[in-house]
Amino acid sequence: MASIDQLTERFLTYNKMYCYNQREQTFVDWPFREDCNCTPEKMAKAGFVHCPSENEPDVACCFFCLLELEGWEPDDDPGSEHGKRSPNCGFLLKNKDYTELTVSEYFNLEKDRLKTYINRIIRKKIVEMCDEADRILEILKSMLERE
Ligand SMILES: [Zn+2]
Repeated sequence: MASIDQLTERFLTYNKMYCYNQREQTFVDWPFREDCNCTPEKMAKAGFVHCPSENEPDVACCFFCLLELEGWEPDDDPGSEHGKRSPNCGFLLKNKDYTELTVSEYFNLEKDRLKTYINRIIRKKIVEMCDEADRILEILKSMLERE
């Protein structure tokens, strides 16, 4: 799972990933290449960018909705996996090559991408706050038990 800093880094740099070729070029070390459904071409076509880490070599992230998926199987279809897990992704719903977008469509997509990013960050912050509240509650309980 990406941290807030990683999500922010991705959001800020993935504006260039509207371009299929840019996405496809990130899959140089992708483990699935032939005789399978999730080739670099199909991954990039479905909006994914390869963003591996040391422990997770097959992490792919949608440049638009920042959905992160790992544990790919050769038979997985990138487009339908993306659609199943992020049905409101603006990139999937638009289904148009970026070179065919009007300026107005592009800015509306960027607005949608920003909104999606902010929602993901807020959800992560809420989880962090709940964890912190639980931690403080445990400390207070143990203090009361000592008295
Ligand atoms: Zn997406």
